[in-house]
Amino acid sequence: MSEAKNYKQALQHSIFNTITKAAANLELDCYVIGGFVRDYILQRGTAKDIDIVAVGSGIELAQEVSRLLPGNPKVQVFKTYGTAMLKTQEIEIEFVGARKESYSENSRNPIVENGTLEDDQNRRDFTINALALDLSEENFGDLLDPFSGIDDLKSKIIRTPLQPDITYSDDPLRMMRAIRFATQLNFKIEATSLEAITENKDRIKIITNERIVDELNKILLSETPSVGFKLLEKTGLLNYILPELIALKGIDEIEGQRHKDNFYHTLEVVDNISENTDDLWLRWAALLHDIGKAPTKKFSKKVGWTFHGHEFVGSKMVFKLFKRLKMPLNEKMKFVQKMVLMSSRPIVIATDVTDSAVRRLVFDAGDYIEELMTLCEADITTKNPKKFKKYHNNFKTVRQKMVEVEERDHIRNFQPPVTGEEIMKTFKIKPSREIGIIKEAIKEAILEGEIPNEHDAAYNFMLQKGKELGLIVDS
Ligand code: ATP
Repeated sequence: MSEAKNYKQALQHSIFNTITKAAANLELDCYVIGGFVRDYILQRGTAKDIDIVAVGSGIELAQEVSRLLPGNPKVQVFKTYGTAMLKTQEIEIEFVGARKESYSENSRNPIVENGTLEDDQNRRDFTINALALDLSEENFGDLLDPFSGIDDLKSKIIRTPLQPDITYSDDPLRMMRAIRFATQLNFKIEATSLEAITENKDRIKIITNERIVDELNKILLSETPSVGFKLLEKTGLLNYILPELIALKGIDEIEGQRHKDNFYHTLEVVDNISENTDDLWLRWAALLHDIGKAPTKKFSKKVGWTFHGHEFVGSKMVFKLFKRLKMPLNEKMKFVQKMVLMSSRPIVIATDVTDSAVRRLVFDAGDYIEELMTLCEADITTKNPKKFKKYHNNFKTVRQKMVEVEERDHIRNFQPPVTGEEIMKTFKIKPSREIGIIKEAIKEAILEGEIPNEHDAAYNFMLQKGKELGLIVDS
C-alpha cells in the first residue's frame, strides 16, 4: 500500500462540498473514484465526468445533492443499474452504491449485491481506475489506494486489481479497455495481463459491436493509434474484430520479388495522418485504405506483385465492415468509401500533373479534396529519404496546380453552367436522353479544358452539340 496521501486540491470544485454535505445529512460515506482521480493525478485536464460511490444508496445521495443545489437540477435514475445521474452546466456526475459483483459465463452483466468501498474497488478494471478520494467531512481528500494504483500511474502500467484471468473473463470488454488505456495514456500492459487477454480473446464474442467500436474509436483518436492496433494484433483480438486488417499481414516473395507488409504500412499511415487530423472518419479511412489489397493480390512474372482494383474492392468492403460492426451506414461511411476508392488518384497524377487531371481529381473528390490529399501524404511511408522528399514534392505540385485551376475554373463545387431547363427551352424539347448527353458533354469539355467553366462558352458548346444531335434551336 502507498503512504496515506491527501488530494484536497483535486476537490476544489464546489460540487464536492455539496456532495460532502449531502452525505453527512444521510449519514453515509462516499468517495470520488475512477477516471476523475486518475486523470487529475496524470494532469490530463479537468474531467467533466465524475463518478461517486456511496456506501449506501447512490440514488438517494444524488437526490439529496440535487436538493442542496440551486435550481434543484434533475436527477436521472437508472433503477436497473441502481445508479443516478446529475448534470450541472459543466459537469456530469454519476452516483452508484458501493457493490460487490459476481459473474456468470455468458454475460458481462454481473449479479450485484450491496458492498463496502473495498468490494467496489475490487470490481474495478484496473488499479489506476480503482483510486478513490474520501469525501467525508473528517477525511476530505484522503486517497484510498488498496492496489498501489499510484505506483502504477508512475510506472505507466495497466494492471488489474484481482487475478487478470478472472477479471478479463468476467467482463471481456476490459480487454479492449486495457488496450485503449495503454494507447491513450501510452502505458504498458503488465505481462500477466497481456497473457490473460491473449488467453481470453475469444470471449470478446459476448461483447456487443457497439461497445467494441466505442473502444476502437478511442484508440483511433489517440495520439499514436498504432500502439493499440499492434496490441490488438499481438493478443489475437484483431482477428475477431477486423480480420480484413490481419489479411494484410505478411510479406510474400516469389522469384526474389517481395511486396511490403501492408498491415504495418497501414498502421504507419494511421499514425502519420493522426499528426495532421483529429477527424475520426479520416483516420478510419487511413485504417481501411488498403483493405482491398488482400483479395486483389496477384503475382505475374512480368510485373511482379499487383493489387489491381484494390481501391474499388476496398470501398465495397468498407460497407460490409461497417454493417458487420453496426457502425453508421450514413454519410460518414460514404466518406470513408470515397476516400478508399480515390486513395490512389493523387498518386497516379503526381508524376504528370496536367490541368485536366487536376480538374478531374477536384471534380471527383468534391468537398473532400483536402482530406484526400491529407490521406495521400500520410500514405508516404518510404524509408528512402530521397524518395520521401520527391513524393512530398510531387504532392506539393499537385496542390499548387489545384489552387491555380480552382482560381480559374471553379471546379470544386461544380454546378453545370448551363442547366437542363435551359437546354430544354433552347431546343424546345421535353425531358429526354439528349439533355443528359449534352450536359455530360459540357462537363467533359470543361474538365478537359476545351472550354472555360462559364455560361456563354458552355451555351455555344451546347448549340454545337445540339446541332450534332439533330436538334433545332427554337427561335
Ligand atoms: P474515460 O472517461 O476515459 O473512458 P473512465 O475511467 O472515467 O475513463 P468510464 O467508462 O467512465 O471510464 O468508467 C468509470 C470507472 O468505472 C472506471 O474508472 C472504472 O473504475 C470503472 N469501470 C468502467 N468500466 C468498467 C469495467 N468494464 N469493468 C470494471 N470497472 C469498470
